[in-house]
Amino acid sequence: MSGILIYIILKIGGKNMNMQDWSKNVASIIEYAGHIFPEVEVVTRELSGKITKSNYKNISIRSKKLASALEKHGIKQEQCVGSLALNTFRNMEMFYGISGMGAIMHTINFRLHPEQIVYIINHAENKLIFIEPVFAPLLEAIQDKLPTVEKYVVLCSKEEMQESKLKDAVSYEEFIEDGDEEFVWPDLKDDAPCGLCYTSGTTGNPKGVLYSHQSTLLHAWAGSSANGLGLKKEDSILMVVPMFHVNGWGLPYLAPMNGIKLVLPGMGMDGAALTELIQNENVTFAFGVPTIWLGLLNYCKENNIKLDSIKETIIGGSAVPYSMIKQFDEDHDVNVVQGWGMTETSPLATANLKTPEMEKMAKDEMYQLQTKQGKPIYGVQLKIVDDEGNRLPEDGKAFGRLLIKGPWIIKRYYKHDADAVDAEGWFDTGDISTIDADGYMTIVDRAKDVIKSGGEWISSVDLENAAVGHPEVVEACVIGVAHEKWDERPLLIVIPANKELTKESVYDFLDGKIAKWWKPDDVVFVEELPHGATGKLLKTDLREKYANHLIK
Ligand code: AMP
Repeated sequence: MSGILIYIILKIGGKNMNMQDWSKNVASIIEYAGHIFPEVEVVTRELSGKITKSNYKNISIRSKKLASALEKHGIKQEQCVGSLALNTFRNMEMFYGISGMGAIMHTINFRLHPEQIVYIINHAENKLIFIEPVFAPLLEAIQDKLPTVEKYVVLCSKEEMQESKLKDAVSYEEFIEDGDEEFVWPDLKDDAPCGLCYTSGTTGNPKGVLYSHQSTLLHAWAGSSANGLGLKKEDSILMVVPMFHVNGWGLPYLAPMNGIKLVLPGMGMDGAALTELIQNENVTFAFGVPTIWLGLLNYCKENNIKLDSIKETIIGGSAVPYSMIKQFDEDHDVNVVQGWGMTETSPLATANLKTPEMEKMAKDEMYQLQTKQGKPIYGVQLKIVDDEGNRLPEDGKAFGRLLIKGPWIIKRYYKHDADAVDAEGWFDTGDISTIDADGYMTIVDRAKDVIKSGGEWISSVDLENAAVGHPEVVEACVIGVAHEKWDERPLLIVIPANKELTKESVYDFLDGKIAKWWKPDDVVFVEELPHGATGKLLKTDLREKYANHLIK
């Protein structure tokens, strides 16, 4: 009788009970890596400059101690635990210890304005915050405005712990000391939250994106696939992208899942510190944003250094200029893989991996193709639409708003009342792009940065990429400024490599590389360009400063 009942219930419910359920806890990754790849190294440059070598076995054990210590301190499942942390082995332990016990790993971008940090911590209602010792003064100055925070854990040893004004401060090593290394990772419900990142938006308050264990695991699996990031078991990965920037692009999960060595630079982002790590740790694959790579490439040029061990670099966060792709290849024999994604997309969405066809191309043709943001990885769907929402042809020419959907793409911002997607589940990225017949997506511009001149559009990204190819241009930024006849015209703002650079030389260089009517109406030389918290050019400030530059 009961058998018939179960049969009827299953038939009605339509549920297939023939395959096993699985643990949707990201801690299953470190549990696996600790067991299967125990000796694979995680190398860190600590704040003191000291190089510390951990491995997946140690990280697995110490994340359990951390998880157990969090429970002892009253942290409950689905509570947010904040971190202002550098890329280090302790941060790896937090990624697993915090999320693995069922709480939410809330990574905070320490480069944000203090008022934004206050907003974010209060919005997430963090009870506990992990901080690097260098950020203690920052937190001491704002802690009175953080009513939910009861305790601060300083990411250092007992010996390194300094006198602190932070509420109930304790060193990380003391905090985990009595934690239980036999802690058992709990089974979590299917949609259990795992991590929280806030967007680094330049207008309005930052918005939270709450990732689930399931979305994070699927994202890591997809990134590990042959059409994902192209990682290999024998790689040694330098993670320059900060772990607060969309979970270090997923590397804290992808690397242990595949038993790949991780090299973590901590605070050492200058050319000397990075090249030393690259050489000593035999780095084969490096991940970072264009601005950091610009510094590294210049350092290598000045000091006659070749990045011998590196085979590939994944660059994302902003468009990668043709000149950077060329320089990496010509000077260092490094292949550039461009990736595109955003906080709302976990972030991996497209990658431009080297194909056998590319190998056969003339170098110039290959570099040109590599300036595209790439093809979607399995699981992600893309489309471009016009302002009325009509789908545009994928011919590489038509451009419009880029929409995306998939299992690791946002549905709703944290604590918002309404969904961020349309009725069919598409999320509007705010980027303008083309998609060609082969499936390559190319970012034309951010919707808010595109220059509207006499009803036609000019891509600020294309102009910047062209200008930065000039051998005496260090960095270039293009903004649209008011114009009496054309509404808006492009203004090129440049950091020159020396005082000899002239406007004429810049114009001569651009001649033939851009459409005539795209020619910037003026070129301004500056010593510095403002960057946002994740290395992107801060165009809002420049638009304000140069608003009337072309108005007589
Ligand atoms: P964030 O959420 O801070 O990671 O910013 C996401 C935005 O960065 C995207 O919507 C793009 O505008 C920009 N972005 C990311 N990767 C690229 C890329 N490879 N090329 C051009 N823009 C990019």
